[in-house]
Amino acid sequence: MAYSYEAPVSQTLFDRASLVTPGGVNSPVRAFRAVGGTPRFMVSGTGPYLTDADGREYVDLVCSWGPMILGHSHPEVTAAVQDAVARGTSFGTPGEGEVALAEEIVARIEPVEQVRLVSSGTEATMSAIRLARGFTGRAKVVKFAGCYHGHVDALLAAAGSGVATFGLPDTPGVTGAQAGDTIVLPYNDLDAVRAAFAAQPGEIACVITEASPGNMGVVPPLDGFNAGLKEICAANGALYISDEVMTGFRTSKAGWYGIDGVRPDLMTFGKVMGGGFPAAAFGGRADVMAHLAPAGPVYQAGTLSGNPVATAAGLAQLRLLDDAAYAKVDAVSAELRSLVSDAFTKEGVAHKVSAASNMFSVFFTDQPVRDYEGAKKQEAFRFTAFFHSMLEQGVYLPPSAFESWFVSTAHDAQALERVAAALPAAARAASEATA
Ligand code: PLP
Repeated sequence: MAYSYEAPVSQTLFDRASLVTPGGVNSPVRAFRAVGGTPRFMVSGTGPYLTDADGREYVDLVCSWGPMILGHSHPEVTAAVQDAVARGTSFGTPGEGEVALAEEIVARIEPVEQVRLVSSGTEATMSAIRLARGFTGRAKVVKFAGCYHGHVDALLAAAGSGVATFGLPDTPGVTGAQAGDTIVLPYNDLDAVRAAFAAQPGEIACVITEASPGNMGVVPPLDGFNAGLKEICAANGALYISDEVMTGFRTSKAGWYGIDGVRPDLMTFGKVMGGGFPAAAFGGRADVMAHLAPAGPVYQAGTLSGNPVATAAGLAQLRLLDDAAYAKVDAVSAELRSLVSDAFTKEGVAHKVSAASNMFSVFFTDQPVRDYEGAKKQEAFRFTAFFHSMLEQGVYLPPSAFESWFVSTAHDAQALERVAAALPAAARAASEATA
């Protein structure tokens, strides 16, 4: 597919990057491979806007994949970071900032009695699973197809189709042994979970699920699904781990837990809680967390865990996220969803706008999507045409049909008008696209 616009500086940077970095990027989806074209190298961000190396400005509907819920360069977050940097960037000792951030998390999310800070969502889920295994003395882990929990070896066994896929690694480099204790089940299917527990009594350490999935596009849990998971885990002596790396502190003040109220044994967090810096966490029941070193025998550590700059950024961001801020993000999301849906309807494009609180994505199908198989059935080629038309008109969307869109408190009327102005041509491009 040829594009009628150019990004010469980004292209030059991408060529340079490709010589020294595999695929030219440090995280695969950034490379635009699902949609084609030149990835944009961004040089700055302010409020709802990003500016690329060619000097083009975009309304940002990715928000760094979730973290930038107050928009870019929020003055109070920036000031907190500058203040922290001026006092030193890493001590390798405990510090008050990490205590304050842990206290803020514990205060917001009632099931979290104790929390351990780490540097990425991947580390959080990896550590939570190790702890669940150490606590229960069991090996097996249940996860759901289409749920992403970072690039943890055991959790990349995700390609299960059918009722259950036992330990088929999704990527070279993950051995059968690493993935062999992972059971992949279809999302939103409690019968499959019951069957897995019945088939392996006393062997399953935990069920890990995205609290509300956003990594196969947005596919919220059906009513009672998370509660059912919790009940099945409790009845079988397994832990229920809710991965809130994406939903945590975004979908409400207390994340998805604040919406469905289902009490996990362990939870994982990242993205918003780092304020744009590498900070993440896992936490939950105090009796389970007590098994973590140095209090207990399950080892877990990190040179930069609880980093003073990252914790200052995260704390500043969380303290600004009051009820009014969430009301604003929800309202922006609702308006955008209706603009997007109207544009597709006008062009006769079959679509479902699927939302979980203020997270949402568009599926190009007229069927409701409740799992990964359903998500994959959409006409993703329409997204490619839509994406490039939006990009050309200065709107930056996630470069894949299987990712959530994210908005912020900084998306004001002017930013939404720019999106609204771009939508008709982009919806037409989607309607005219061919596979
Ligand atoms: N869990 C979920 C639900 C995620 O969405 C992600 C990342 O997108 C992760 C875990 C991994 O987080 P990180 O990319 O910080 O390692």
